[in-house]
Amino acid sequence: MSGKTDDETCANFLERIVCLLDNELDAVDVAEVKAHLDECAPCLQSYDLQRTVKALVARSCMEHAPDSLRQRVRVQIQQIRVTYTEG
Ligand SMILES: [Zn+2]
Repeated sequence: MSGKTDDETCANFLERIVCLLDNELDAVDVAEVKAHLDECAPCLQSYDLQRTVKALVARSCMEHAPDSLRQRVRVQIQQIRVTYTEG
């Protein structure tokens, strides 16, 4: 067991990443999450994916994003979650 992060830590950060994207975190939490993103590639990947989904959803209010594209991004997020859960 070496390294600064483990799966449980990342699972916790995943929840806060969602809040971060919704602007629901206070400044202390934002700093913590961003520090983690700097040193954790999987979480950064997840952050990027979820930001992409948000952008797609926001855009779909004005124009219809292809369902297949949204579906594909959702599947990728699911796979990341499964990776964390299964360890
Ligand atoms: Zn992480």
